[in-house]
Amino acid sequence: MSIPPGSTIGIVGGGQLGRMLAMAAAQLGYRCHVYAPDEAPPAAEVAAFFTRGRYEDEAALRQFGREVDVVTYEFENIAAGPLAAIVDEAPLFPPRRALEIGQDRLTEKAFIEAQGGRPAGYRGVGSRSELDTALAELGTPAILKTRRFGYDGKGQVRIDAPDEAEAAWAAVKGAPCVLEAFVPFDTEFSILLCRSSRGETVTWDAPHNVHRRGILDRSSVPTDAALAPAVEAATALAVRVAGALDYVGVLAMEFFALGDAALFNEMAPRVHNSGHWTIEGALTSQFENHVRAICGLPLGATTRAAPGVEMRNLIGDDVHGWAEALADPAAHLHLYGKGEARPGRKMGHVTRLIGLGDS
Ligand code: AMP
Repeated sequence: MSIPPGSTIGIVGGGQLGRMLAMAAAQLGYRCHVYAPDEAPPAAEVAAFFTRGRYEDEAALRQFGREVDVVTYEFENIAAGPLAAIVDEAPLFPPRRALEIGQDRLTEKAFIEAQGGRPAGYRGVGSRSELDTALAELGTPAILKTRRFGYDGKGQVRIDAPDEAEAAWAAVKGAPCVLEAFVPFDTEFSILLCRSSRGETVTWDAPHNVHRRGILDRSSVPTDAALAPAVEAATALAVRVAGALDYVGVLAMEFFALGDAALFNEMAPRVHNSGHWTIEGALTSQFENHVRAICGLPLGATTRAAPGVEMRNLIGDDVHGWAEALADPAAHLHLYGKGEARPGRKMGHVTRLIGLGDS
């Protein structure tokens, strides 16, 4: 089934990912309808239609589903009821099962193991005493993460010694958690894959990612040649995962590289910050291929467009350096149109193509 240009794509979530999706969709002649709870979300500024509604409002999501030809999302924490309301009305991609697995760190890790992947050592933790048991088994340092609603380092507490358990448990407010062994990784990288409803699968160069305070700071390609075995194993896992889920759209999987091993960290059933470099740095961006995939169109080539590409996030006050970014002729500036530059808030990004002419 193909959804031709001129149709309307529904996007649940109104942040920068939705904004860049809507821009790519417009280029292909689609209209986008954004659904988000905020008054003036970044995605709505560049979309044809906007519905302001809560993610819990089943009736509003059902109506939204009726008004579009296909639904995708950039916000993952949609509860089961509202999700069912959308699925009743319109095709949803990536598929519901991918969303449900990605919403829960414990389910996600078990699923990845079943596909032959290897996460860092972990234990499910549902009570204070289970936390003590898990700490005794995994040792310290370890990281306590809430099973749900965590992103950009939120809902995470590092535990360096067993006597910090009490404070960590208080910090997560007793929410269901996983305890993860701390991985002394060499580097972090991600796999960006796109699978279409026709079953065609492509991947981009795996970016090397650097985080600052739990938030992605920089992604660059190509990665060091020494990472090749880890990237190869991780890519094979991503292809298996996509196949098992009958996946449609962009899938991002984050890994820790430790020697030749790729330890799975987490997956996101959506376009991903570590793929922003593909807008100028690849022949087809993650956003365009996501649109092509969910609409049943052929996928575009993912070949790198320059010998090297580096993407740097503008977080919080970094955004005030926008003029400096523009002064660099090899840099592409993206601003998300967000008002206040709060600490930790992703305000924009800058991509540099390296090794072309004088850059
Ligand atoms: P997450 O939201 O789980 O991706 O965590 C954000 C960042 O925190 C990761 O990209 C890592 O830089 C760091 N981190 C998370 N879990 C671990 C771990 N088990 N070991 C070492 N670093 C971690």
